[in-house]
Amino acid sequence: MSTEHTPRTAVVTGAGSRRGIGRATAHALAAAGYHIAVLDLDKEAAEDTARDVAVRHGVQALGLAADVTDAEAVDAAITAAEAALPPIGALVNNAGITSPTRFLDVTHEEWDRILEVNVRGSFLVTHRVAPGMAERGFGRVVFLSSVSAERGGGVFGGVAYSAAKAALLGFARALARELGPSGVTANSVAPGLIDTDITQGKLDEQRKAAMVADVPVRRIGGVEDVADVIAFLARPESGYLTGVTYDVNGGSHIH
Ligand code: NAP
Repeated sequence: MSTEHTPRTAVVTGAGSRRGIGRATAHALAAAGYHIAVLDLDKEAAEDTARDVAVRHGVQALGLAADVTDAEAVDAAITAAEAALPPIGALVNNAGITSPTRFLDVTHEEWDRILEVNVRGSFLVTHRVAPGMAERGFGRVVFLSSVSAERGGGVFGGVAYSAAKAALLGFARALARELGPSGVTANSVAPGLIDTDITQGKLDEQRKAAMVADVPVRRIGGVEDVADVIAFLARPESGYLTGVTYDVNGGSHIH
């Protein structure tokens, strides 16, 4: 593909998690020709993903520690990526946290933290890399929303999570409008229930089975199902797709 002729780097946040969507996405983007910068809270996990990606796909990859809610840490990590790797051409705002706490029980602190990681985190990283993308006339920004934003919770995440993920849909759409003239696209993926560790064991098997029974394709999603769509949106050839939301939910929410 054309990244072969124009070496570019993709930044994937929250890609340290061993069984997570971010790590699978780093592999999918590397397979498509991107060099990779992994940002994660956990430095060792980020470096482990980077090593794995570099070995498997023969691209350059760098693992960096950064809390996406910390502007200085984000700036330092992106500066390090810019110094070591080809220009940043793609950003996947994947770092996120969820919580099933019911609205009547949620504390102000928990509400703020869910919004902070999912929304402010996506803002800080996008705000740091977008000027360079616009200047170079090429960028692919992908946001990790959720089916919870579209159907009003009902999967695992509560009101705070649904609000945060809905904010990202508006963020992507408005960004698409502003940066389209500069060659930068902004899109969202909205996964349904995907088999990762984000629920931290808090989703019991009985509830999971009931949810799968309600999915038309009758299975929980795999990380590759989501990574594939993200890699598709990040292709140079996908430049006429912007401001869209791709559902990856096995038909569990059709609208
Ligand atoms: P995951 O396995 O928990 O991965 C999330 C990653 O984000 C982890 O590596 C985590 O690091 C990192 N992270 C958390 N807070 C961070 C911060 N402040 N700064 C930097 N990194 C941070 O979750 P996942 O299921 O792959 O989810 C990936 C994205 O998809 C999330 O945005 C999630 O909301 C979204 N999503 C997931 C599903 C699903 O069913 N799994 C459905 C819809 C949407 P640590 O492990 O070190 O904490």
